[in-house]
Amino acid sequence: MSTYHPLSEQEAIRIAQDIEGFFPPGASLACREIGDGNLNLVFHITDGVSGKSLIMKQALPYAKVVGESWPLTLDRARIESEKLLIEGKLVPGLVPAVYQYNPELALTVMEDLSDHVIMRQGLMNGTRYPLFADHISTFMARTLFFTSDLGMNQQEKKLQVKAFINPELCKITEDLIFDDPYTDSPNNSFNPAIRDAAEALWTDGELHLEVAILRDKFLTNAQALLHGDLHTGSIFATPASTKVIDPEFAFYGPMGFDVGAVFANLLLNFAGQEHWSGDANARAEFRQYLLDTIVDTWHQFDEKFRALWNEHGVDRLASAAAGYQEFYMRRLLQDTIGFAGCKIVRRIVGLSHVADIDRIPDDASRERAQRLALAIGTSLIKRSRTAVSIQELIDAAKSAI
Ligand code: ADP
Ligand code: MG
Ligand code: MG
Ligand code: MG
Repeated sequence: MSTYHPLSEQEAIRIAQDIEGFFPPGASLACREIGDGNLNLVFHITDGVSGKSLIMKQALPYAKVVGESWPLTLDRARIESEKLLIEGKLVPGLVPAVYQYNPELALTVMEDLSDHVIMRQGLMNGTRYPLFADHISTFMARTLFFTSDLGMNQQEKKLQVKAFINPELCKITEDLIFDDPYTDSPNNSFNPAIRDAAEALWTDGELHLEVAILRDKFLTNAQALLHGDLHTGSIFATPASTKVIDPEFAFYGPMGFDVGAVFANLLLNFAGQEHWSGDANARAEFRQYLLDTIVDTWHQFDEKFRALWNEHGVDRLASAAAGYQEFYMRRLLQDTIGFAGCKIVRRIVGLSHVADIDRIPDDASRERAQRLALAIGTSLIKRSRTAVSIQELIDAAKSAI
């Protein structure tokens, strides 16, 4: 059973029974595959008697993209489990515990978080998460700072960069986020009703310049160990708890790519409120809640990151040079805003979309949400070298309505 093959539910049960001391001996386990089956299998294994349960995530050797299978390295299971272990040390409580990693089977056994809800779905249901800004700002400040040249031994960091080389998953991002949406690519997929808005992206020279600059940062700036796919579908939440999952895209890249991913997905939900809110008042209130969450997250992130730097900074010159911290945080804000814009645009015209928008049943509301998202996304991209405050992101969102 140890050479790689996609597991059956029965095989997953046998592996679970063999994990020392987890389930009671002889327990009769139930197993259900709950993944969406595009990249990975996710098995949910439970013991009805003891009430214990766990999750097994197994990478598949292909991705179903562009309608056909695309070979995809199983090494991403190693990257995911190693990144989860690093996060488990830096931000215990904000990620699932890893119980076991099996490299032959590309399999990670982890804590079952089924008592949480995927945040994207929660926001579509109108749930508010009052502790989210605190939790996600801690997650980002600590994981980004302590894996960067500011917060870790710089020779050890270079070894880490090597361990997290992730070319195949980075290529997905490079193509789907930083290329396809800006040309008439066969990988694109969008509502024919917004063809005019998609075509406008293909001919906007000012936009292309900013995207090329952001793309270069993604390709070359090994600033910190990123999660790499930090959207609201990678976040399990309750009003009291936040858990980040699914770091298979982890690699050393620009910090703003993670922070921007969070803000982009809150803004996609903001656009989707064309439908998900009951009426105009509820819509205005929920949208304000989303914008307040972004501002709060940025301010807490900025404060926590600077505090870590002041207390744990390892780079003498970076800590001593007057004005350098200001420069660094402003650049990080600008990167965040630019990457947020790119992440919004790709979810409207690129290959892979989000439920906040695509599940809107009514054609007219969906089209309004798509146009709104594109207006916000392009406006953010164009502010990515000039913004000096998070308020500019808020202005971009408000003035696009
Ligand atoms: P993929 O990389 O294929 O997107 P994810 O890690 O995002 O896989 O998991 C896909 C789905 O499986 C999640 O949306 C969630 O429903 C379920 N899932 C994944 N990890 C867990 C977990 N630790 N606890 C409970 N459910 C999980
Ligand atoms: Mg399934
Ligand atoms: Mg996922
Ligand atoms: Mg994934």
